[in-house]
Amino acid sequence: MDKITIIVPVYNEQESLRAFYEEVNRVTGEMKEQEFELLFIDDGSKDESLSIIKRFAESDSRVKYVSFSRNFGKEAAMYAGFVHATGDFVVVMDADLQDPPAMLPEMYKAIKEEGYDSVATRRVTRAGEPKIRSFFARRFYKIINRISDIDVVDGARDYRLMSRTMVDAIVSMSEVNRFSKGIFGWIGFKTKWVAYENVNRVAGETKWSFWKLFKYSLEGIVDFSAVPLQISSFFGFLMCIISIIAIIFLIVRQMVFGDPVQGWASQTCIMVFIGGIQLFCIGILGQYLARTYLEVKKRPKFIVKETNI
Ligand code: UDP
Ligand code: MG
Repeated sequence: MDKITIIVPVYNEQESLRAFYEEVNRVTGEMKEQEFELLFIDDGSKDESLSIIKRFAESDSRVKYVSFSRNFGKEAAMYAGFVHATGDFVVVMDADLQDPPAMLPEMYKAIKEEGYDSVATRRVTRAGEPKIRSFFARRFYKIINRISDIDVVDGARDYRLMSRTMVDAIVSMSEVNRFSKGIFGWIGFKTKWVAYENVNRVAGETKWSFWKLFKYSLEGIVDFSAVPLQISSFFGFLMCIISIIAIIFLIVRQMVFGDPVQGWASQTCIMVFIGGIQLFCIGILGQYLARTYLEVKKRPKFIVKETNI
């Protein structure tokens, strides 16, 4: 009998947990051939989420939970889930029912019968999302696919059913700065994509502000591409060439026309321009350096305060 672990990252989801649990029960009730483990990762919720999960655990031995000492972010929560999952297959599901549990039987079937290592989902619509956010999301996917070796699918969710081998591969990627969409792509394996229409949250609000998403997208780029560094070297090289041409031009002009002192304004502009490019490039370098610093420190990715495992 196959065991499926359902990892549920939870951060302040007291309004949606009950509906989620009911829906999962309905779906798992239909899958009689499989055994289930419901692994809730409480990512430092400040509301009643943890006590609700504990109540589930009292009456349901399939329910396991790991509670963090503070909010470490969804990436850390998923990682903790992968580390603690004991199933032969593992799936990550949001607690807000935006990843419809009803798709699970179909996903399981594909992985079992069609020989895939994982079945991933992608939203084909972004209905219900602010226009500006969709716009930047699209740009992000374009950019990251162009400048990194990995393939990041537009609209891909973290909702994904995976084989044990794949989960072990993910756990072996021990980096501190985690961008799961990139990690899934990087480790390879055969993935089937299932498309579905966007579903809105059952209750509560999204935990992602525009700014948080922006930082997360930078994370993705810096983690999986060195192209920004190449761009800054290229800028430097270009500046050298331009300055050599300008020097030759000035020497020739000096010899032909003499040198009336002039043009301090243009000089200032050029200085500011070059200064700007330098700072910009140092900034890019800094992004990589800061992440290297965090990786080198090897801090734990999460700290567990309470668990029933
Ligand atoms: N989440 C988490 N830690 C966080 C933010 C979110 O564990 O710091 C969980 C959240 O409880 C939910 C899932 O990650 O189960 C997705 O979050 P959300 O619905 O806010 O993101 P969205 O669906 O809007 O991308
Ligand atoms: Mg959501």
